[in-house]
Amino acid sequence: MTQPQRETIAIIGSGPAAWTAAIYAARANLSPIVFEGEPMGTTLPGGQLMNTTEIENFPGFPEQITGPDLMGRMRAQAEHFGTRIVSELVASIDLGSHPFRIRPNYSPELEALTVVIATGANARWLEVPNELRLAQQGGGVSACAVCDGALPFYRNKVLAVVGGGDTAMEEALYLTKFASEVVVIHRRDSFRASKVMANRVMGHPRVRVLWNKRVTEVIGDDYITGARLEDTVSGAASEIELGGLFVAIGHAPNTGFLDGQLALTPHGYIKTEAWRTATSVPGVFAAGDVMDDYYRQAVTSAGTGCMAALEAERWLAHHGLGESPILDTAEAPVPASASMDGAA
Ligand code: NAP
Repeated sequence: MTQPQRETIAIIGSGPAAWTAAIYAARANLSPIVFEGEPMGTTLPGGQLMNTTEIENFPGFPEQITGPDLMGRMRAQAEHFGTRIVSELVASIDLGSHPFRIRPNYSPELEALTVVIATGANARWLEVPNELRLAQQGGGVSACAVCDGALPFYRNKVLAVVGGGDTAMEEALYLTKFASEVVVIHRRDSFRASKVMANRVMGHPRVRVLWNKRVTEVIGDDYITGARLEDTVSGAASEIELGGLFVAIGHAPNTGFLDGQLALTPHGYIKTEAWRTATSVPGVFAAGDVMDDYYRQAVTSAGTGCMAALEAERWLAHHGLGESPILDTAEAPVPASASMDGAA
């Protein structure tokens, strides 16, 4: 039997955390390999920034940059320093013994001395009748206004956005470019979004907010025609005619492929040591939205990607598994609880 290829550091993901980890690991001569995923439904390699238009808060781009542009640049920078990129999802991973084993969807299984998990998070759905069916058949329901809102289907129609966070605000404002009217449906009487975004939405002439309402059903056979609503205070039922519905109620971390092998937080995000990216398994590090349900920004995600690469490099050096050309390994941040059982 042929021996699986052995990698020093495997990075799973393709958002700011993954590419930053790759840039740092490549520059530290760790020869990283990145599993960037593949297009699936509304999910694209590149993470959630692929679904964003202008980014105004990533330092260094005073003239603005789009999410896909920023991701393209990060990916190119990682490649420039020698990162190898595999455009496949990881089907499963075995963290029970060391070296870890990674099984991509199509390529042969390989081994890795360290792993950085930066698989991000995916959009949540309302889970009401007809929602997913219409979303899957292109019937006017979507979880990404920036991906779909510009389609001719949505032009000059009344479009709803569900949610009260920054994503909902961003999507509502984006849709004002195409819709005859944007209706924001929110289950409470105030937005959770930042004040500046909320004010922009509430002050927009083509946006109407329906407070204290939840969607109980999407109406439509081939295409959406409306939604049934329930008042969250009085319980009263109502209906609204719609030409499109965009669900913007948050995200779920992509941890399914881990099959319970890493400790998670109560909200399902990968648990890391405080101010570290070290996970419950020594040699495995987590970065970006898959471990962060608090900041969730491109810049913080990139920051944790950097941390993960540096921690992996120190961990390798501390265990005599790699060189650490730039760091003092005496204080390698190996978790106090770390058991090296099974480690090479
Ligand atoms: P979020 O902040 O978690 O907001 C989710 C919204 O959906 C909340 O208003 C929530 O209502 C509502 N919601 C959740 N489940 C629901 C359900 N089942 N039915 C109806 N409504 C439901 O998520 P997000 O807006 O995606 O933002 C995530 C993070 O990214 C935040 O930290 C945000 O600041 C950041 N972000 C920043 C930018 C930017 O800076 N440009 C853009 C987008 C996102 P409640 O309020 O009642 O809980």
